[in-house]
Amino acid sequence: MARRPIIAGNWKMHLSIAESLALASEVRDRCSRFRDRDVVVAPPLTSLYAVKERLADSRIQLAAQNCHWAAQGAYTGEVSPTQLKDLGCTHVIVGHSERRQYFGETDEWVSRKVRSLHDHDLVPIICIGETLEQREAGDTMSVVSTQLEAALAALSGDEARTSVVAYEPVWAIGTGRNATPAQAQEVHAAIRRLIAKRFDASVADAVRIQYGGSVKPENAAELLTQPDIDGALVGGASLKSDSFARIVSFREELA
Ligand code: PEP
Repeated sequence: MARRPIIAGNWKMHLSIAESLALASEVRDRCSRFRDRDVVVAPPLTSLYAVKERLADSRIQLAAQNCHWAAQGAYTGEVSPTQLKDLGCTHVIVGHSERRQYFGETDEWVSRKVRSLHDHDLVPIICIGETLEQREAGDTMSVVSTQLEAALAALSGDEARTSVVAYEPVWAIGTGRNATPAQAQEVHAAIRRLIAKRFDASVADAVRIQYGGSVKPENAAELLTQPDIDGALVGGASLKSDSFARIVSFREELA
C-alpha cells in the first residue's frame, strides 16, 4: 500500500514572529506545489497564529510542538488541544525526546495527550526513540515498543491508523549523526509489526512512520525511500527554507 509521505519541520524554540513569517512564506512558496505529500510546519507557540494566517489557503499544514491533555483548566503555562484547534493547528507533536529528557514527559502523559488529541480531531505526531546508551545496551526495541504501546494504549484501530509515529533515535537528534537507512528501516519495520500485533495488518499498513534525527537534503532521499519510512520530522534543517524544501522534494532530488 502506498502511504502518502509526510514531512514536518519542527522549529523548536527558535525564531521571532517576523522570522517565522518570513520562513513560512518561503516554505509556502517552495513546497505548495507538492500535491502527493503532506507538508507540516511546527512553529513556536508565539508564532502559531501569525503563521496560520500566512499559510491560509496554502497546502502547508500547521502543528504545535506540545500540548496538555485537558481541554481547559487551571494549568498555568499550558495550552490545550481545544486552543490549538482554535488556532488552526491540524497536528501536534507529542513525546518529543527533548520534552521527555528536559521536562519529565512520561509515557503516561503521552498516552493521555494522544487520547485527547483524537478527541479534538487533531493528529498526534508521536515521537519515540532510544538513547545512545540504550542502543548500545541492545535495548532499542524494548524502549521503542514500551513507548509505542503506551502512546497507543487508549486508541481504537481507526484512531491509530490516522496517527503519525516519528521514530527519532535520540543520539541522532541535532547531532549531525543520522541513523543509516538500514538501521532506520529495521526499526521502522519492527514498529509496523508491533502495530500489526496490537491492532491488525490493515492498521499497520496505513500508519505513517516518520524518521527524525539529522535529516538533511543530502541524506533525505536515501532514508525516505526505505519501504517503511513514510516521511521525516526535521529539526535543524527545517529552519532554512532551502534545505527544508530540498527534503520535501526528496523524490525529485533523486531524478
Ligand atoms: C527533531 O528535533 O525532531 C529533530 C529530528 O532534530 P534534527 O533534525 O535537528 O536532528
